Amino acid sequence: MPSLGDATGGRILFGGDYNPEQWPREVWEEDVRLMREAGVNLATVGVFSWALLEPRPGERDFGWLTDVLDLLHANGIGVGLATPTASTPPWMGHRWPETLPRNPDGTVRTYGSRNAYCPSSPVYRAFADAISADLASVYAHHPALRMWHIGNEFGTVCYCDQCAERFRHWLQARYGDLDALNEAWGTAFWSQRYCEWEEVIPPRQVQYVINPTQDLDYQRFASDLLLERFNAERDIVRGANPAVPITTNSMMFFKATDLWRWGAEEDFTSLDAYPDPNSPLAACDGAMAQDLIRSVGGGKPWLMMEQTPGRAGFRHVATPKRPGLNRLWSLQALARGADGILHFQWRASKQGAERTHGAMLPHAGPDSRIFREVCDLGKELGDLADVLGTAVAASVAIVLDWDSWRGVELDHQPHSGFRYVDRIREYYTPLWKANVTVDFVHPEADLSRYKLVVAPNLYQVSDAAAENVIGYVRGGGHLVLGPFSGVADPDERIRLGGYPAPFRDLLGLRIEEYWPLPDDEPLTLHSEVFGDFSAQSWAEWLTAGAGTALAEIASGPLAGIPAIVGNTYGAGTAWYVATLPEERVLARLLDLACSQAGVESVLPGLPEGVEAVRRGEFVFVLDHARGTVDIRLATTAAV
Ligand SMILES: [Zn+2]
Repeated sequence: MPSLGDATGGRILFGGDYNPEQWPREVWEEDVRLMREAGVNLATVGVFSWALLEPRPGERDFGWLTDVLDLLHANGIGVGLATPTASTPPWMGHRWPETLPRNPDGTVRTYGSRNAYCPSSPVYRAFADAISADLASVYAHHPALRMWHIGNEFGTVCYCDQCAERFRHWLQARYGDLDALNEAWGTAFWSQRYCEWEEVIPPRQVQYVINPTQDLDYQRFASDLLLERFNAERDIVRGANPAVPITTNSMMFFKATDLWRWGAEEDFTSLDAYPDPNSPLAACDGAMAQDLIRSVGGGKPWLMMEQTPGRAGFRHVATPKRPGLNRLWSLQALARGADGILHFQWRASKQGAERTHGAMLPHAGPDSRIFREVCDLGKELGDLADVLGTAVAASVAIVLDWDSWRGVELDHQPHSGFRYVDRIREYYTPLWKANVTVDFVHPEADLSRYKLVVAPNLYQVSDAAAENVIGYVRGGGHLVLGPFSGVADPDERIRLGGYPAPFRDLLGLRIEEYWPLPDDEPLTLHSEVFGDFSAQSWAEWLTAGAGTALAEIASGPLAGIPAIVGNTYGAGTAWYVATLPEERVLARLLDLACSQAGVESVLPGLPEGVEAVRRGEFVFVLDHARGTVDIRLATTAAV
């Protein structure tokens, strides 16, 4: 199987999306001259070119694309060639309206934007397969070709009749017969029992709350349906030249696509990362997304496919990155396993929806702060090729599971503001600040190589996942489990007898009730270990059995009830946190867990805002604090 290493050719990839079709040909010459000046060695081409490549149904106009690839190759610039299937030409939606996606209420999302297609539509599929096959037959052995980029930011969810039909097939494969579906969906509730497969439909607009398992299964199906499209185009282009690696660009913490399943199908994973530079935790958010994209790719080197050198045009307040910030975040990606740093896009568009989005070559042209920084970055990356192919070291894993994410955000949960990624971030942040590098893991993955496993919100848990986590602790592992965990099975069936049913013995406790709190009613807690502290939004009516209470609620109807519990189990230790404490308390708990588990910071004692990551034999030290930092290294690490 090809890898990103087949595309890098010994150089860190550097460049961005190149959309020459938006410009007259005389601009192309300037483009490649400036690309060479900036050290660009890879251009992503053709992502949104379908309407030019196929101007009318079945017609082909590849001449301009051949000229672009030849021009780039003549200038020593490789190409990530896209299948252009994310953005259909207007003729498709106009002549075949059934190719357009429908909302849950039946309304159509029409053409005039992008990513507006029904992934089930036989017409869409036939046209998408045909253009992919023709591009592959023409360019699979073009000397500029370094990789294939399938589609773009897969994420379209459609609720049309064609999707309903495919949903039924997906359900038949999952459940076998309708009795099993009725059982799994709990259709005895509200008179929802199905007697014919034809009655089963997507979770469309309904009078009141939708069946939660129907909703959950449709989210799983929608991810699998898009993955089926990725796989179809992947197989088409792979058939033309199996040596060329294939990827697609994933967005940061995007719920619609289960990246554990996607990462397994890609030759390497790629990230589009747009942290908000106005956020005080932007660097942490970036690191978290980078750790996830590396983890879903099996720990292999990955590609930063998109980031902006300036501003992200979609943001409410689109403040540009300050001077030096794109370099800093690019080096952060390199530290966390990237073997290539690309941007959206090369030349800033003067027209179209993203006309205000930043670019390597901004509207101001080459005489600009941003282009000078781009040139400096290209030169610097050219000197760092020794990191290529090396692995990021992590001894802590955070459990992240799309089913728990989907489940916890279904309708009629105890607190509609309880957001899964918030829970992940709350536990990731103190570890990031302590310079403890983490991998993300699926709950059924092998945990044995980690000294500490943190599961911030393992809401939905399969029997296999529960046994996996329990066996990890029994065998000597250390676990920190967050609130509202172990609640439901994969059919969204509540596990009975006291929460969290699979983990009561593991944790030495039993919970009778969840106790969400209004925003203006913070919880006060007492603790000899953490000092008195406050918590927000969530409490649990918990009785400690074998477990030791490390913090107790100090007032209100839950006064005296434990909120943080520690328990030894087998050869290991587990801690349970039954609320949303202030950050310093989670930081202290994780510090305690790390020290018991023997987890060490990459570089202990760094000033706040200074990040350290070990990749291979290198240690990257990154100052996000904008200060002057004096760091004395006692090791021989290269910086
Ligand atoms: Zn559809």
